[in-house]
Amino acid sequence: MSRDRLLREARDLDRGDPLASFRQRFFDDATDTIYLDGNSLGRMPADVGEVMSEVLAHQWGSRLIRSWNERWLALPDTLAAQLARLLGSHSDEILVGDSTSINLFKLAFATLKLQQGRGRIVTDCLNFPSDRYILQGLIDQHFPNHRLVTVGTSDGITIDAHAIRRALDTDTALVSLSHVAYKSAFLYDMKEITDMAHQVGALVIWDVSHSAGSVPIDLNHCQADMAVGCTYKYLNGGPGAPAFLYVRRDLQDALDTPIPGWFGHAKPFAFATDYEPDRGLRRFAVGTPHILSLVPLECSLDLLLQAGLDRLREKSVTQTEFLLALFRSHLEPLGFELGSPTNPQHRGAHFSLRHPHGYQINQAMIRPKGTDVPIIIPDFRPPDMIRMGLAPLTTSFEDIYRAAVRLRDIVEREEYLHFSATPSGVT
Ligand SMILES: *Cc1c(COP(=O)(O)O)cnc(C)c1O
Repeated sequence: MSRDRLLREARDLDRGDPLASFRQRFFDDATDTIYLDGNSLGRMPADVGEVMSEVLAHQWGSRLIRSWNERWLALPDTLAAQLARLLGSHSDEILVGDSTSINLFKLAFATLKLQQGRGRIVTDCLNFPSDRYILQGLIDQHFPNHRLVTVGTSDGITIDAHAIRRALDTDTALVSLSHVAYKSAFLYDMKEITDMAHQVGALVIWDVSHSAGSVPIDLNHCQADMAVGCTYKYLNGGPGAPAFLYVRRDLQDALDTPIPGWFGHAKPFAFATDYEPDRGLRRFAVGTPHILSLVPLECSLDLLLQAGLDRLREKSVTQTEFLLALFRSHLEPLGFELGSPTNPQHRGAHFSLRHPHGYQINQAMIRPKGTDVPIIIPDFRPPDMIRMGLAPLTTSFEDIYRAAVRLRDIVEREEYLHFSATPSGVT
């Protein structure tokens, strides 16, 4: 395909995009910046400033502690109801709060206690490091006779479902996987893997951090046991926004939280001497909700629900397919390699490209020397992956076209040689 033809195609796709107008619902600093990190920190909804000012001036500033009863105690439930619609669950199966890592700790601990007599935890080598640290930490500190089994990958990009099946046995207590892999964007068939685990009596915790808000999820339909996920990526909740956890209804009362805090007590404001767990998954709440960090999430979840996950997914698949076509025509001849699956059914919304000079190329994208070139912000994951975080709600097809052209130019003109090959800070 000729290069100009792809630019024309990008513009045609943008003109025909029913979700194109959502870009204007997000803050715009009017610089020529192409943001490709929506899978790491989503954009800020435009109305967050106004909503936050009201919360600060009125709710905190003026109403002070009265706001807990007037607004704040109900906020996590309001958000849980919105999230439930995005995740295909009932609202009483979602609890908002803490971080993804802490939620995984709580649910994994509770699962291992429930599954007494089973000593195997299954994960894969593409899982997010924090998830692996937490599972290994549980073994080291609390379950010394358990074993973490890591399913490998043959191509560094995908995991074969048969390999998961082979790792499962009747000794398996827990399967803990990321629905979409943070580096390669490999996407599991949630129902297939959940069914496999159930056949041997294992329970599954899905980490949906990299799929929530970009891939349709139907936790109830998949009969998913548990899930955790964060809200600052495709859910645009803002830096460090609280995470969520999901537990299916009929499992909730069987699980005990390892952190029995007062917000998980049946009557927190009775200030009883002894702990009594709240009903259902509310017992997994620990302490006071992070109100200021929760407020922006209401704005962004509204936007996602308006756009609709099916339409977002359709656009997302077209976008990653378009990037794949650009890769073939512009980048493959220059030594770039694919870091993501070619089958869109097994691919999330982001797309990774590998190059031996990946870190330097990434720096040249973010800090171009010339003034006539756009600033492009992807991110980098070692050893050589440039992650293009395409967020279907806010990324345009022309953004993708320009990013690919820029990648080509940086390598063709050896611009990356101006940058150090040693990573530092948040990459
Ligand atoms: C981003 C991400 C996390 C982040 O966890 P925090 O505790 O919120 O920092 C966890 N798991 C996966 C798969 C992620 O992509």
